[in-house]
Amino acid sequence: MPDSQPQHPDDATADPGALLLTGARLTDGRTVDVRLGGGRIEAVGTAGSLTPHSARVDLGGYLLLPAPVEPHAHGDTALTADTPGPVSYAVEDVQRRATEAALLQLSHGATALRSHVRIGGVHGLGPMEAVLQARRSLRGLVDLSAVAVPRLLTGLAGADGLAMLHDAVKMGAGVVGGCPDADPDPTGYAETVLEVAAEHGCPVDLHTHGDDPARLTRLAAMAGGLRPGVVIGPCAGLARLPREIAARCADRLAAAGVTVVCQPQGGCGAVEQRGGAPVRLLRAAGVRVAAGGGALRDVSNPVGRGDPLEAAYLLSSQTGLRAQEAYETVASAARSALGLPEVRVEAGFPAELLAVRGERISGVLSLAYSRIVVHRGRVVARTSAVREYCDSAAGVALDLPRQGRS
Ligand SMILES: [Zn+2]
Repeated sequence: MPDSQPQHPDDATADPGALLLTGARLTDGRTVDVRLGGGRIEAVGTAGSLTPHSARVDLGGYLLLPAPVEPHAHGDTALTADTPGPVSYAVEDVQRRATEAALLQLSHGATALRSHVRIGGVHGLGPMEAVLQARRSLRGLVDLSAVAVPRLLTGLAGADGLAMLHDAVKMGAGVVGGCPDADPDPTGYAETVLEVAAEHGCPVDLHTHGDDPARLTRLAAMAGGLRPGVVIGPCAGLARLPREIAARCADRLAAAGVTVVCQPQGGCGAVEQRGGAPVRLLRAAGVRVAAGGGALRDVSNPVGRGDPLEAAYLLSSQTGLRAQEAYETVASAARSALGLPEVRVEAGFPAELLAVRGERISGVLSLAYSRIVVHRGRVVARTSAVREYCDSAAGVALDLPRQGRS
């Protein structure tokens, strides 16, 4: 075939997977068309200005946002609260629950999830194997990464936990985590996690209640300079320390570049550890704060929703963050905590998007059921809600709308 064959001018953009999103509202008030192709945003133009493609999604009435991510899930225990008897950790059961939970979180808008998975004890690496299988089966729908959470890492029992941690990373757990507070030697535990992470070049994501200033300060000293970075959470205990002490801890965390992932929906630990991290204090000190969902209908939170918009709503209503700032804790800050590239609704950025019925970010955080989720340039989930008012007499008399969408 001669290479001089004339090319149609549109060939450069005639990607069979291309998708045109039309009439979407942006947070700056513009109404635009957005063309997606090759998993990225190819172009953003005023409504009607972009060449129509075969695939088109009308986003009239929707606000288009960078998709949120879920930086703190528990795929191995999710959706166990309503099942009587002991939780099954059989590989097929964990895989089924982790898949179902990830799809639920995806339907809310999270196109990437970080899932903490306990390893060791009688179940060994079974739950990790199950979550990694769920990850493979979900490829193309949602990106899932797994955090290995060993029980003990110090003393005699710790040797076994350490061996299993190395094995979990070799299996595909991309992040090293754990609960230092639960080990007899919390500092030794954290040191070991940081060493293993440095050896394998993995990020670190640790659970801590954050109520021990000396322990937090030591952790910050050890974490400083570790690349890729260190995430801790949910840190509700930090809010119960005297303010000056909490502020000093926050300064150390900021200096070390540690990110705090708070859990406004109630956390993933025991009832006495519920509460919110001191988000305003942390932000004032320069700590990067993201928000995650934590427990999703397991024993820690049988009513957990795993909805990033709910986490942002709670942060806004409880701490007074502006709606846009609250959304950033589940979107740009959470993406950054997971080491993911930035998303903006601009040409060249990854096509990871969430369209929510509404006009403004405050409205969609207040309440919004109808959502369209885009991952790698494709619509991967769609939820629609129709509201009907049934008192027709009142509707006629007052000329009220009888239908709506939310
Ligand atoms: Zn957790």
